[in-house]
Amino acid sequence: MSIQLAVFFILVGVAVGSFLNVCIDRLPSRKSLVTPPSHCDSCQRRLGLLDNIPIFSYLFLRGHCRYCGARIPVRVLLVEFITGLLFFLAFWRFGLTAQFGITAFWCCVFLVVIFIDWEHKLILNIITYPAIVIAVVILAVHTYGPGIVFLPPQATLINGLVSGAFLFAFFLLIVIIRPDAMGMGDAKLVALIGLISGFPLVVFSMMIGVTLGGIVAVILLATRKKGRKDVIAYGTFLGIGPIIALIFAPEILNWYLSFF
Ligand SMILES: [Zn+2]
Repeated sequence: MSIQLAVFFILVGVAVGSFLNVCIDRLPSRKSLVTPPSHCDSCQRRLGLLDNIPIFSYLFLRGHCRYCGARIPVRVLLVEFITGLLFFLAFWRFGLTAQFGITAFWCCVFLVVIFIDWEHKLILNIITYPAIVIAVVILAVHTYGPGIVFLPPQATLINGLVSGAFLFAFFLLIVIIRPDAMGMGDAKLVALIGLISGFPLVVFSMMIGVTLGGIVAVILLATRKKGRKDVIAYGTFLGIGPIIALIFAPEILNWYLSFF
């Protein structure tokens, strides 16, 4: 692994993270991602170059707007940092390959889903629908295309479609039985997770997500921060599963195959 390239992709990741923050801020209220240019939500002042340097601006301004002093959410810093880290991990794992690009792309999609669900308890169709279409196209090219390695070898179009349909049907059942616990947004999200993971990786994606969600739900209930009736943003935890599973896919698949 070249150190220069690793540093380069960390910087690209941090810059992309800055754009993901714009998506997280604007997609729930259906605002344009392009206009207006970045501005402070409190005083509406347009941000200058110095206010827009990912990570550094936040640290330098200690998380406050330079003009009006309004707090900037810690999430802004967190998303930039995590995106940089995930780009590094994906590059370290796959090198300069198509699989690195695809993995980094899905990390971005799931990061946006994770934070919007955490902040708004919403999983937006405007993200899941196009993502499902893109996933099917990538799988089709991977399976029937000119032999470019995009994804782990077990990921085929049929495998993804079956995994996605199975999870969607299972979650649809939960939504019908317990509409207060899960929403259709969750069902569409797991369909996407099934598609891009494929069997057996999908088992690990879901196990990671469900376990994390369960642990946090128990903690929130035990500390009485949430009551039994409150909605817990499961999408946040379900979205973490495929990120970990995709980056560590080679290890997970080797470990799984060692049982046979
Ligand atoms: Zn301001």
